[in-house]
Amino acid sequence: VKHTLMKIEKMEVLSQLAASISHEVKNPLTVIKGFLRLLHQEHLSSEKKLEYLSIASSELNRAEDIINDYLTFAKPYPEVIEEISVGAHLQKLMEIIGPMSHQHSVKIEAGIEEAVIKGNARTFQQAFLNLMKNAVEAMPKGGTLTIRTVRERGHVCISISDTGVGMTKSQKRRLGEPYFSTKESGTGLGLLISYRIIEAMNGKIGVTSSVGQGTEFRITFPTAD
Ligand code: ADP
Ligand code: MG
Repeated sequence: VKHTLMKIEKMEVLSQLAASISHEVKNPLTVIKGFLRLLHQEHLSSEKKLEYLSIASSELNRAEDIINDYLTFAKPYPEVIEEISVGAHLQKLMEIIGPMSHQHSVKIEAGIEEAVIKGNARTFQQAFLNLMKNAVEAMPKGGTLTIRTVRERGHVCISISDTGVGMTKSQKRRLGEPYFSTKESGTGLGLLISYRIIEAMNGKIGVTSSVGQGTEFRITFPTAD
């Protein structure tokens, strides 16, 4: 495998992002510690106890969400650049997202042409898991998640589309901005991670969205086969 097309340092995205994860997770941990300390007080009403426990528990969920946005597939050894079978990896992600889609009454449709690109398979999976999770979360009343890949000359275009809530123009402009989230307990970090990973793999991102209709993310990579 030749590494000439891509700088290895450029691929160390997740390792770099892993450094900021410790920073991100420290905030909820500090809050949890504080409320656990409060729980040690004597003469606490049971109402107060429940309130503190509930805050600690929601901060714990937040810490978990942040870790999932960054490190679902991470392993403690260096990222290798390899040949990635796009179709096979998307198929695997559809299985992973299956139970979550089912819970949201979301149907998954796929039309996949196999293509090979260069990059790191785990970071590729993280990038597309975050996109798929957002698509499912955009359809709280159910809908269809469609995953398509189309081969063009020297490129493969991966499309992730949903029939969900869609976005306004100003929301669309803020995609990939750290901490931008319209969700009650969103991290606003998932897309930032996806965008960084895709850009490091020389991918291009296009988004079309309309409110109440749905959203499509199209990601184009140079192929390696
Ligand atoms: P989070 O999912 O934690 O909110 P993300 O970085 O993954 O953070 O996404 C940021 C925001 O982008 C979301 O809160 C949402 O407003 C918007 N967004 C992303 N994907 C979609 C989508 N498929 N449909 C509608 N809005 C989306
Ligand atoms: Mg997200």
